[in-house]
Amino acid sequence: MDLYSGHINKLIEELAALPGIGSKSAQRLAFHLINMPQDKVNRLANTIIEAKQNVRYCKECYTLTDREICPVCSNSKRNHRMIMVVENTRDLAAYEKTGRYEGVYHVLHGAISPMLGIGPGEIKLKELIERLHDDVEEVIIATNSSLEGETTAMYISKMIKPTGIKVTRIASGVPVGGDLEYIDEVTLLRALDGRIEI
Ligand code: ZN
Repeated sequence: MDLYSGHINKLIEELAALPGIGSKSAQRLAFHLINMPQDKVNRLANTIIEAKQNVRYCKECYTLTDREICPVCSNSKRNHRMIMVVENTRDLAAYEKTGRYEGVYHVLHGAISPMLGIGPGEIKLKELIERLHDDVEEVIIATNSSLEGETTAMYISKMIKPTGIKVTRIASGVPVGGDLEYIDEVTLLRALDGRIEI
């Protein structure tokens, strides 16, 4: 039996399809949105559309940005010979917040996961290899310490080894299965300082 109108059902369905939102939250959000003033709803809808239209991948590091080249990559004071590989833009933001890392990044947008059917071709690995010119001195692998993160780290290490470029892995001060974005800055810096060559 349909309890709500078709429009409300459709809205609930769309919201429930978002990550981390169950059907109860979707219902609550849907009714909240319906009860919001029209101008606020318009603003929210437009913000979503504009973000989607204007946010793109940085041409160098593939983080999400409004510009062709992101602020980190276009900063000549950063050490472009040191590339830290992270799983997503949120992880990059976590390291940027510490204010201590001076190199640049490479954002994979995921991790290898045989269980979820995500192979090396589905993340930005080919793009990483294309960035490895002679002047790159170190690649720091800062993927999460989950099974997927470790698998990806091993894969990257094997891929880069033949080039002779130094490959390091951040120390495992980071709790196993922990998402980088939830870890405090001190732990992040300790993990970075304690990185070891692999
Ligand atoms: Zn960039």
